[in-house]
Amino acid sequence: MVIYNLMITAEVENVSTIQPMGGCDDPNFTYYFKLRCENCGEVTPKETCVVLQDVVPLPKSRGQANLVQKCKFCGREGNITMIPKFGRPLTGADCEAGQYAPLMSFDCRGLEPLEYSFGCDQWKVETTAGTVFENVNLSGGDWVDYDENGSMPVSVDNLKSRFDVVKSR
Ligand SMILES: [Zn+2]
Repeated sequence: MVIYNLMITAEVENVSTIQPMGGCDDPNFTYYFKLRCENCGEVTPKETCVVLQDVVPLPKSRGQANLVQKCKFCGREGNITMIPKFGRPLTGADCEAGQYAPLMSFDCRGLEPLEYSFGCDQWKVETTAGTVFENVNLSGGDWVDYDENGSMPVSVDNLKSRFDVVKSR
């Protein structure tokens, strides 16, 4: 079992925070990424998606997970369980310092998450003037708008992500 933290950062202009619409533990926020099989190393050609509120029962167990998937190459089954309460919004200060913020933790068994994709329109961006833009789509890799309250442009650019191993056993 390995726990990964999904870490994100960006270059921003006049942005205070970036986070999922319902906060970092938004039960409906969709995470998209690829998976590598720990047994044979095969990487899934397509992105998989997981959502905190969507759970499936674990085979041969009473537990449940957010994803149970069988490797198409070797047949080994793995699963992923999301762990809420570790994430926090990405702030303008993080971005200025070139630092990453943790968004969500994933307990992964038999599967390694790779290449997180910002592909959804469920983001909330708050500007330094306190204006909140809802359902922002960051899937194109950048976003630009104009904050009427603050009379200033607001933008998100150069989105980056990585998965950090925080616990392994
Ligand atoms: Zn495999």
